[in-house]
Amino acid sequence: FAPLLSVEGLTTVFDTPSGPLRAVDGVDLAIGRGEVLAVVGESGCGKTVLALSILGLVSPPGRIVSGRAVFGGQDLLALPEGKRRTIRGSRASMIFQEPMTSLNPVLSIGDQVAEPVRVHRRASRREALAAAGAMLDRVGLSGAGRRLRAYPHELSGGQRQRVMIAMALILSPELLIADEPTTALDVTVQRQILDLMLGLARDTGTAIALVTHNLGVVAETAENVAVMYSGRLVEYGAVADFLREPAHPYGQGLLASLPRLSDRGRRLTPIPGTVPSLADLPTGCHFHPRCPRAFAPCARDIPPLFDLPDGRRVRCWLYG
Ligand code: SF4
Repeated sequence: FAPLLSVEGLTTVFDTPSGPLRAVDGVDLAIGRGEVLAVVGESGCGKTVLALSILGLVSPPGRIVSGRAVFGGQDLLALPEGKRRTIRGSRASMIFQEPMTSLNPVLSIGDQVAEPVRVHRRASRREALAAAGAMLDRVGLSGAGRRLRAYPHELSGGQRQRVMIAMALILSPELLIADEPTTALDVTVQRQILDLMLGLARDTGTAIALVTHNLGVVAETAENVAVMYSGRLVEYGAVADFLREPAHPYGQGLLASLPRLSDRGRRLTPIPGTVPSLADLPTGCHFHPRCPRAFAPCARDIPPLFDLPDGRRVRCWLYG
């Protein structure tokens, strides 16, 4: 079967006075229908730029320089913006970290949630508002009639993120890209919002690319995981295999830095060092200055993605 989304060699740069910086560098991945793929990595690894690039949402000084994002048989990146916008509004949608930046402050919640229905289903305003009210009920915003007339600033952060989920899923899209959808929220509401989004998506058979830095969430929700480091995919495969035994030293470091019940009282082992700046990327394997297993070729040559027997792909010379 062809996957729902196939990303091939996607490369996005940001133009700066000192030259183009590669934020996403030759990423290949695929998402099947109804699948949840987690995209993980520390801040600055290119997860958000990858998410935006897939839907053609990168704006200057960023630009996609090569690659494809084939969705339902069409390369989204080769389509004119008008056609891409139509697909984005109906068959593929996105939820951002901070809903306040993507909600229109001067439009009522009802009109914003109803808009995809009016535009893509050509429904009347009344029909679309009725659909919006039903959707707001489903995302747990009770008293939908009153909510329809509310404005974004009248809602809490959690309520606004529920509105974003309602907008993103009201047309039962085939694909949802969710970029750290709960990061800006209170810890106590994060889990509720995530469960809500995943439950609704499961009901509609929507596939999700979930950008997150929370490996606990990955373990509970995703079938496959893509680990990013400095713009490159470094490990890609089944979550169960990754959690049992991460293959890439960076993934090993991420997992080792997680608290475990049995580790109570013991010090965690965070990965020493920080993600390098795009303006000053190391040669060879981008991870080599932090890698405890680095050896001769690592600083010199860029490792390709090697195939492991269990189906995973790993960008590391240890497997060469
Ligand atoms: Fe470490 Fe070398 Fe593998 Fe990079 S290629 S992760 S430096 S062992």
